[in-house]
Amino acid sequence: MEDWRLNGQEEYLTNAVLYKITFPKFWEQAYVEKNAFYQTVLKNALDHMKHFPNAKNYLQGEKIQHFWHEHCDFCWDKAMTDIECEFYCTKDMRYWICKKCFDDFKDKFGWRIKNDSL
Ligand SMILES: [Zn+2]
Repeated sequence: MEDWRLNGQEEYLTNAVLYKITFPKFWEQAYVEKNAFYQTVLKNALDHMKHFPNAKNYLQGEKIQHFWHEHCDFCWDKAMTDIECEFYCTKDMRYWICKKCFDDFKDKFGWRIKNDSL
């Protein structure tokens, strides 16, 4: 029987190059560097708060991180910036995979890990 977590991911994740992400370290670094991940989180927070007049109180400093989360593309486990966890993601940060699913499916999908920072 097929694993319940498999749902057509072969179409877009076969032989994918993945980046290993460890939270909260990845966020802390992004916050200092104001890098692409920081911009993603900031944009997400701005989108969420567009219609709230008091938004600026929530958009100060590191508070913006609480508007961001992602789910494992296989088991739906949640990635958050302030919870200790290890995930793998594609370069465009569209697909996220938790450590357990990564270990379970890496051979089947032929994933390669890139050690550069995103
Ligand atoms: Zn998972």
